[in-house]
Amino acid sequence: MPEAQTPPFSVVGRVRDAMERRIKVYPYHTNRASELGHDCERYLVYKRTAWEKQTPHGVDSEFIFEAGRRIEDEAIAELQAAGFQILEQQRSFKYPDENLNITGHLDLKIANGDGKAYPCEIKGLNQWDFAKLNSIEDFFASTKPWVRKYPAQLYLYLLMSNSDLGLFYLKDKQSHRPKEIWVPLDYEYAEGLLQKAARINQYVADNALPEGIPFDDKVCGWCSFMHLCVPDRDLGDGAQLIDDPDFEEKLVRRAELEAAKKEYDALDKQIKSQVKEKDNLIVGDFVIAGQWVERKAYSVEAARYWKTSITRMGAK
Ligand code: SF4
Repeated sequence: MPEAQTPPFSVVGRVRDAMERRIKVYPYHTNRASELGHDCERYLVYKRTAWEKQTPHGVDSEFIFEAGRRIEDEAIAELQAAGFQILEQQRSFKYPDENLNITGHLDLKIANGDGKAYPCEIKGLNQWDFAKLNSIEDFFASTKPWVRKYPAQLYLYLLMSNSDLGLFYLKDKQSHRPKEIWVPLDYEYAEGLLQKAARINQYVADNALPEGIPFDDKVCGWCSFMHLCVPDRDLGDGAQLIDDPDFEEKLVRRAELEAAKKEYDALDKQIKSQVKEKDNLIVGDFVIAGQWVERKAYSVEAARYWKTSITRMGAK
């Protein structure tokens, strides 16, 4: 083994610094189609009135957004290679009723040479979300607040471009496989979005704030205005404020790992059900063994259960 050498320079640190310099908070004077599906109207009003006070996303998120932008270019290239016409790429939209103050940027329209073009949104997704999304209902049922916003964005583009059918072209960011979901315009839902935009405009004009949603870690935990909103929360009698950065860091890390743990548990369940009552399997580097285990006599559950163990060859 050659002797370890001191590296001549740090690479990753500089790349992260360069990526961090790209993070910007932009002024926000309209109701953006990409945001109107957000669960909380208070957030949407903050977006209009306090955009400069929002907490910018971190550098790790910027890497993910950058990957999303690249996958969009890749998707367009593969649609073109398949012979589809790509029209109105990144076209800016303004909703015809100017009082609603709704704007947006459509990814593209796709056409098949018959004179009809359909609004199309490209979304790069992690492999788990990609597998879960197979219909418009799946978007609404997602636990991710940003995924639940996607239908509103497409519906508004459909309204703004006078179309009644649009397309989500989804890409798995890991395998790069595509998936298509055609979406008919839901007029009732879209009408609700227009009314929401009108309410937001009224709050902005009145310099007022609506109530927020009841605290929900899955939404508020991602909210860039939580530092403005949280003081309004009723913390209850006897709440004790603890100023301990180390402890807070542990809580932040715990929250970050929570999503990974959920993903692990779901996958573990899926894998174990796939190999139930199977023993001595080899999949790539992995050895899967299984056996029936008798439960203790006092257990109220089934008398025995199948126990699977998965080991990676060569792992210590
Ligand atoms: S912290 Fe929650 S309630 Fe407050 S604005 Fe954000 S999403 Fe809404």
